[in-house]
Order: sequence, then structure tokens, then C-alpha cells
Amino acid sequence: MSNILPFKRPSARSRHRGSTLCRHGHHKWRIDAERVFDNKQGRLVTRFCCTRCGAVKTRAL
Ligand SMILES: [Zn+2]
Repeated sequence: MSNILPFKRPSARSRHRGSTLCRHGHHKWRIDAERVFDNKQGRLVTRFCCTRCGAVKTRAL
């Protein structure tokens, strides 16, 4: 009965899945929406969404 594995960080493993590159800033950007109006910038931007971690960024056209 000595082979009981300690589960110290169960959530760390699921976080790691497929997002190692993301953690290093290499997101897999996909165009989420084109020509959406960004209130912060006050103009039309293209919104990108990472297919792996779901991060969102916007870029002015
Ligand atoms: Zn990502």
C-alpha cells in the first residue's frame, strides 16, 4: 500500500495541456471577428482569438 501517488497539483496538469506555447507567448491566433468596433480605440479593429487558450487580442486594420 505504498504506491499511493500524491496529488499535490491536480490543476497544473490540465493547465499545461496544449498551452505550453501560449505560455511562451506563441499563441495560435485565429481571426475571431473582422471589423469589430473597439470602443477603447474608437475605430474598427480585427479581433483575434487563440484556439488553444482562448486569449483575445485586437489589431487595428
Ligand atoms: Zn494561446
